[in-house]
Amino acid sequence: MSQHFSGSLFMVAAPSGAGKSTLVNALLAQEPTIKLSISTTTRAPRPGEEHGREYFFTSPEDFVKRAAAGEFLEWAEVHGNYYGTSRYFVEEQMKAGTDILLEIDWQGARQVKKQFPQAAGIFILPPSIAALEERLHKRGQDEPHVITRRLLAAGGEIAHAPEFEYAIINEEFPVALSELSAIVRSARCRFSQQAARNVSLFAQLGIHAEHAE
Ligand code: 5GP
Repeated sequence: MSQHFSGSLFMVAAPSGAGKSTLVNALLAQEPTIKLSISTTTRAPRPGEEHGREYFFTSPEDFVKRAAAGEFLEWAEVHGNYYGTSRYFVEEQMKAGTDILLEIDWQGARQVKKQFPQAAGIFILPPSIAALEERLHKRGQDEPHVITRRLLAAGGEIAHAPEFEYAIINEEFPVALSELSAIVRSARCRFSQQAARNVSLFAQLGIHAEHAE
């Protein structure tokens, strides 16, 4: 089914505090044609977060009902809350040739990979455990018991890093950003993606790309 989609799909995962959102936001500012999928979650909004911007916030009852109806391309329980990706949004955008970026955890990435084997999985690593802890405290958005839970979970998330194709160590922000950007650019040059985006050129050149990787 993947050959119907001409957009590329990127999945970015990281333990909390690795600087994932800052990196992703900087990438999106540089590459405005990539759309970020806004997930639905049952977690409470943090100060400053807006419904429809960071997340669509909902109740556990509503989430479970929608998950059962197949509305989510993937969903998982992370840090005691549910998070899910809209199947409709991702599929419609990719059919239209738009590149989509998902900020999801390893459980979600696994589910997406089964449905879209060509999805590029990118894992953001902190330069040290101490840096991770410091960033979580500095963010100051979560209660201390939540920070402790997230630190414990970080080890669990990192254990799944080898399931991703790419690893970025977020030590020097500009370096990490240029690496992320390089991954995006290289994925766009995959033969299958070029063939899907340039149908008439490939036909003119007599290239039959049905079996392209
Ligand atoms: P936070 O609550 O800090 O915004 O996110 C917590 C974790 O949930 C992060 O690891 C994030 O990647 C993950 N997450 C956010 N949205 C989704 C989603 O739609 N699906 C899955 N599986 N994980 C998500």
